[in-house]
Amino acid sequence: MLKEWIDNSWTLFIDRDGVINKRIFGDYVKKTTDFHFEKGVFEFFKFANTHFHKIIVVTNQQGVGKGLMTLSELELIHDFMKNTIQINSGRIDQIYAATNLKNDNLDTRKPLPFMGLKAKKDFPTIDFTKSIMIGDTDSDILFGKKLGMKTILINSKELVTEKPDFSVSTLADLIF
Ligand SMILES: [Mg+2]
Repeated sequence: MLKEWIDNSWTLFIDRDGVINKRIFGDYVKKTTDFHFEKGVFEFFKFANTHFHKIIVVTNQQGVGKGLMTLSELELIHDFMKNTIQINSGRIDQIYAATNLKNDNLDTRKPLPFMGLKAKKDFPTIDFTKSIMIGDTDSDILFGKKLGMKTILINSKELVTEKPDFSVSTLADLIF
């Protein structure tokens, strides 16, 4: 179905936990060995590699702000994610992580648009009207809507009240 919406000028914004890797409810992925890819991820990123202009991961990682892991530990996890996807014929162009606490003065977390605006600054060819946000929570869908993107929800046990443009159970369902 994605093919009906997009051409190679579109950008993909994608959440991490619960979308690329299995979410740990009530805790954080703090090391590479906690990071387990979701079903269909490699097939999806292989598809995305040839169908999207830019592929951007946007992830809230408050565990860093809470002192539960360091920024370099988070970066190791992200290197592992990016390299493993690359080995499997996929690609991630950039990863933005919001590591601040919820109530910090400078809040970069979704649903606020900060990480999207940062991406647009770093990659000026990104057009939000030709972008898709894929996530598993209200904050992902709101983030996408605020920036004028199309939104896709990955269904899970998370209670979601925002209405996405489309919803699926795994990333692999989008490869048509
Ligand atoms: Mg998530």
